Amino acid sequence: MEHDVIIIGSGPAGLMCAIQANKRGKKVLLVEKNHNIGGKLPLTGNGRCNITNAEFDIKKLIEKYGKNGKFLFNAFNLFGPKELIEFFESQSLKIKIEDNKRAFPVTNSAKDVVDVLESILINVDVLCNSRMTDFTIKNKQIESIKINNKEYKARNYVFCSGGGSFDLIKKTGHTINKITPALASVKIKDPFSELSGVSIDVLIKKPKIRGEMLFTHFGLSGPVILNASKKISNEISIDLAPDIKELNIDKNKLLKNSDFLPSKVVLKLLELAGINPNKKGNQLTKAERFKLFSLIKNMRFEVLEIVNPMVVGGGVSLKEIDSKTMKSKIIDNLFFAGEVVDIDGPTGGYNLQFCWSTGYLAGTNLD
Ligand SMILES: Cc1cc2nc3c(=O)[nH]c(=O)nc-3n(C[C@H](O)[C@H](O)[C@H](O)COP(=O)(O)OP(=O)(O)OC[C@H]3O[C@@H](n4cnc5c(N)ncnc54)[C@H](O)[C@@H]3O)c2cc1C
Repeated sequence: MEHDVIIIGSGPAGLMCAIQANKRGKKVLLVEKNHNIGGKLPLTGNGRCNITNAEFDIKKLIEKYGKNGKFLFNAFNLFGPKELIEFFESQSLKIKIEDNKRAFPVTNSAKDVVDVLESILINVDVLCNSRMTDFTIKNKQIESIKINNKEYKARNYVFCSGGGSFDLIKKTGHTINKITPALASVKIKDPFSELSGVSIDVLIKKPKIRGEMLFTHFGLSGPVILNASKKISNEISIDLAPDIKELNIDKNKLLKNSDFLPSKVVLKLLELAGINPNKKGNQLTKAERFKLFSLIKNMRFEVLEIVNPMVVGGGVSLKEIDSKTMKSKIIDNLFFAGEVVDIDGPTGGYNLQFCWSTGYLAGTNLD
């Protein structure tokens, strides 16, 4: 057997797993179907890579992942945001903390993150353009896997295949909990395309979440929409100005120059309410004022489609994985790490963090 471990997928989970296994003297083969390593890493944080969230209180961190978060306790305790930042800084990649504890490389470059990881992989065999297409199982063990029609064997296998390859993984006997798009934007009927690029602080009514919403040419995006997207149904109702309790409009100003919201949004609302924007505040009728206020406090959009998900919800059932090691409870020599398992978090570095942490745990617990 040429390798101690074969890792499928070279995203953050696979890379961290490979680095830790190699550090512990394991002979590692890292397999990636794309021509480059890194998985989704180069795309993250708009190319800046929000590598983690610097929430060092593990209890608070876990709460961000909803009911499945408890599973991450061991992983975060051993290799949480603090350890991750130390890891990158020890590789001479300085990390800075921005608003909401979001952590980025000071160079603002996701490519630098991939390059640093790649530089530590020197003793790891990497096979790119290589897809795992099948495997054989004997006596509750993976016996061999098929990559590019060739058989490979190792003592251990780690599946870090992200949001793909679930049909294949099912063959292990593991339960795959329902796959749903998460951290996604929404395509809406009659989007306000003229507001594209405008961002405002809103309150989504259901699920109740407040934060920045971005108008796009096809619909709605921004952190609040991404975080709500798993639970958004056919209609979305939004309070466009959660801090405004009553509409205070300057009597002497033209309505189009009102500043209760950004001017482009004000103009759109006046258009929707059928109010002449060149009227002065004191010319606004009671009915018009009511209409305008209702639109601001309860803007409804018909959702056509959930688009551009950044992660998937669902995945390999946590009941079938040992949270202390990431080892399968069904197949003796199989481990999982990263998005492939049934965990996802909100925006802000939480998704990469659990991939690093579970990759670390798997890489340090191989037989
Ligand atoms: C646009 C965008 C921006 C994002 N920004 C952030 C951010 O700033 N911060 C954050 O925390 N999260 C962010 N995320 C989420 C984050 O990228 C994912 O949570 C993370 O990449 C998942 O890591 P992973 O290693 O589990 O999987 P992936 O990164 O998806 O890597 C899995 C790899 O496995 C390979 N693979 C799959 N099946 C096979 C097979 N059968 N054979 C061989 N190879 C296979 C794939 O090609 C892929 O390279 C973003 C996501 C997107 C799409």
